[in-house]
Order: sequence, then structure tokens, then C-alpha cells
Amino acid sequence: MIDAAMTTGSAGSMKDTIFNYLPPAMIAAVLCFWAYGPTALLNHEATLAVMSALITISVLLLEQVHERHAGWRMNRQEFVTDLFYSILSATVIAWVSRKIGDDPLVAAKASLGITTQWAMRMPWLAQVALVVFLIEFGQYWMHRLMHNVTPFWLTHAPHHHLTQLNAAKGAVGNPIELVLISLSIVALFDLQTTAIFAAINVLGVISTFAHANVRSDPPIFYSYVFTTIRHHSLHHSTDYQSTRCNYGNSLIFLDRIFGTYREGEAELVGQDERRRLSIWEQTIFPFEPLIARYRARKGSAETGGDSSAPAKAAVERPVPESVESPVTA
Ligand SMILES: [Zn+2]
Ligand SMILES: [Zn+2]
Repeated sequence: MIDAAMTTGSAGSMKDTIFNYLPPAMIAAVLCFWAYGPTALLNHEATLAVMSALITISVLLLEQVHERHAGWRMNRQEFVTDLFYSILSATVIAWVSRKIGDDPLVAAKASLGITTQWAMRMPWLAQVALVVFLIEFGQYWMHRLMHNVTPFWLTHAPHHHLTQLNAAKGAVGNPIELVLISLSIVALFDLQTTAIFAAINVLGVISTFAHANVRSDPPIFYSYVFTTIRHHSLHHSTDYQSTRCNYGNSLIFLDRIFGTYREGEAELVGQDERRRLSIWEQTIFPFEPLIARYRARKGSAETGGDSSAPAKAAVERPVPESVESPVTA
């Protein structure tokens, strides 16, 4: 009896240990693929998108094997929503961010005659690290901006309205936010394409695990530098103060440097009494104050100046706390 219990216990802890090491192991696998993979695959234009999808799918499968919270379990409604945003991110969002971000930077770089051949001569792994840092440094400050300035908050708030976390949730949010958060200055540097793609997939592994419903708590050598589900679930917490920390999408080290790091974890996630938004509500969310004002004005014109009823309705509409009073971090 005791032996059986001990066996179960050690099997459980063995499973925990294996899962705790999965995020660093997956990063190593991604790096090995882009460093030593078959040239035909590395040069194929679809490989990056396929790798990104495989990362999300494999972590979604891990959720089935070692779940973190039953309340975050995938259901049909969440799956359809997540699938929509995954496809949107890989197509429309990627295209728009290339058109308004990367292409103008490449053109400006060419017309100004800027060259950064020194970057190309760096060791391959250092190039990967540079891309990871450039993307994350931009995202960290963009994320803080979104939590502190109302128009930007209105684009980011839908992501905080998520009522559960899973491996695909990193891609769920208002389309304007998804474009803003994907902008970077990487296009200004001359770097090996495989190093850029490896960095994108490494960030994909970290941020996917940081949203995932997987019982995996990586060792300190990982969690000191990279964001984990513990850090990011706290950022998604229902209480306002807890959302004002741990802004690093993948590099929690930036929060440690800039004083926004906080230890902790949350199971209950959401915004405004955990109101779940539909895809349409997420899309129009930034424009809701304008729509409410327009309706109030229209109601006022129709009632000949008595605007009390529609105005009251507009005021009673739930507004995120930080929209009412943006606070500097
Ligand atoms: Zn946030
Ligand atoms: Zn998130």
C-alpha cells in the first residue's frame, strides 16, 4: 500500500520534472533545427509558418497530458476563437505589419545607405540573441505604453478580457493591438535569415508556454530570464494592481531590470467582472467610447435636447479601470 503510494508519488514528481524542463528543451530543439536543419527546408518560404503552428499545436497537446487548471480547459467556443486569431495573425496581421513596419524600414535603410555588416559577422547564436532582445525590448515598452495611455489601452484591453489562458491565447486580441505589438526594428539590421527565424520561433516557444494551461514550472536558469505562465498569469489577474507588473512577453528579465517584476501567480483571470468578449466585441472595443458618444448625441437630437437617458446608458457601460484613470507605472 505504502509502496504503491510512493510509486505513484515518484511517478508524479518524475512527470513534473520532465514537464518543467520541456520549455528549455523545446528552445534547444528549435535552435538546433534552424542551425543544422536540411537546407531545402530552411530555405522554404513556408517553413517558419509551419514551425510556428507546430509549436502552438504541440503545447496545446501538452495541455491534454498535464493540465494546470481545470477552469482553463479548452472548449469548442475557445477553440474556434483561437483558431480565428491564429489564422488572422499568420495572414492579415503579418501582411499589415510588413507593409507598415518592415518595408518602410528596409526602404529607409537603403536610401540612407545604412549598413550593419558587423551584425552579419557576429556568431549565429549572438545574432539570434540580438533579434530576441530587439523584438522584446520594443514589445516591453509598447506593452507598458498600452497600460498607461488610454487610446493604446483600448486596443490592449480585449487581451485582458480573456477568461482563461491556453497555448493559443497569445494571438488573441484586438487587431490594432496585434499589429502594434508585432512592430520591431529588426529590419534595420543585416542578419542571417535563419537567425531571425530561429529568434521568432524561440520567442514563440516562450510566449506560448507563458500563456499555456500546462503544469510546467521551468527551473530558475530559465524563469530568471524568460517569462513563464506564473509571471504572465499574474499579469492577467482580475485585480488591477497585479496587472501592472510582468510586462515582458518573453523576457521577464526586462521587468527585473526596469523594476516592474512581481512574484506570484493567478488562476482567476479577466477584466471587468470577467466579461468574455466575442470576436466582434474585441474588434470594435477601441471605438466603443466614440460609438457611445455618437449614440448619446443622436438620442439628444431626437428627443429635442433631453439627452439624459442615452447619456446615462453610456455612463453605465463598463469601462476598464485604467481607462478612467491611467496611472504611470
Ligand atoms: Zn497587458
Ligand atoms: Zn497575455
